[in-house]
Amino acid sequence: MNNEPLYGAIEGGGTKFVCAVGTGPNDLRAEIRVETTSPEETLSRVVKFFHEQEAKFGKLASIGFACFGPLDPNPASPTYGHILPTPKPGWTNANVVGMLKDAFDIPIVFDTDVNGAALGEWRWGAAQELETFIYLTIGTGIGGGAYVEGKLLHGLIHPEMGHILLRHDRDKDPFAGTCPFHGDCFEGLACGGAMEKRWGQPGETLSAEHPAWDLEAEYVAQALTNYTLTLSPQRIILGGGVGSVPHLLSKVRARTRELINGYIQSPIILEHIETFIVNPGLGNRSGVLGAIALAKQAGA
Ligand code: ZN
Repeated sequence: MNNEPLYGAIEGGGTKFVCAVGTGPNDLRAEIRVETTSPEETLSRVVKFFHEQEAKFGKLASIGFACFGPLDPNPASPTYGHILPTPKPGWTNANVVGMLKDAFDIPIVFDTDVNGAALGEWRWGAAQELETFIYLTIGTGIGGGAYVEGKLLHGLIHPEMGHILLRHDRDKDPFAGTCPFHGDCFEGLACGGAMEKRWGQPGETLSAEHPAWDLEAEYVAQALTNYTLTLSPQRIILGGGVGSVPHLLSKVRARTRELINGYIQSPIILEHIETFIVNPGLGNRSGVLGAIALAKQAGA
């Protein structure tokens, strides 16, 4: 038994909230999945879970809350801890951190789900000892977190890597895209929902030979090329239900190298692209472990 303080973790997703208490990958002592309904109902079930765990294990040191966005992660802002305007009914302007603060007198570290996952991968997964890297998830939606020169990147609000604009050849792919804001942005063209709408079945269920994968790889590789040219990451971690499909990964590596076309003279890209674009080291656990990693930052 170690004497490390115990942390609370919340991976807040659009369909479910995963909560856990523990100290890391080898020490998660309890876990619960709560369906995402209204903010009040969802958070009250989260609070109840943590109160029960505190009764068993003692007081938590802090809580890491990695949440779907858009959200306000700036502690100096009047709307810190709120969900920003979102198409998700009932969640616009919900003060989700405030609801936790009403119940717990401990630090709450709040960030995007993808920044949380990035930090989890840095601490225990595929990005250990890197200074600059990107974590990208392609599933129901597309989102990216960035760790830049030793810190999670926020900037103006936080990066929205899923909504960048790509080259869209409408002769080859007449699909208009699914994003309610931009139509054919990256997420609108390449998220799981877009694949399902374009091909009539969920992306993960399409066979490896289906032309869907060459098209998907084209969009993902364009995005990865843009991120590589913009942030100069040392690695890009590709996760999520669609992003983790093995035959997609090899196509994305090959096409990204083609699109960069020798311009970035690094052996990592020219000779070892398999170490540059990788799947998460923590598998589908980056989210909840990322929230533990966020909680650990409270005392740092
Ligand atoms: Zn968009």
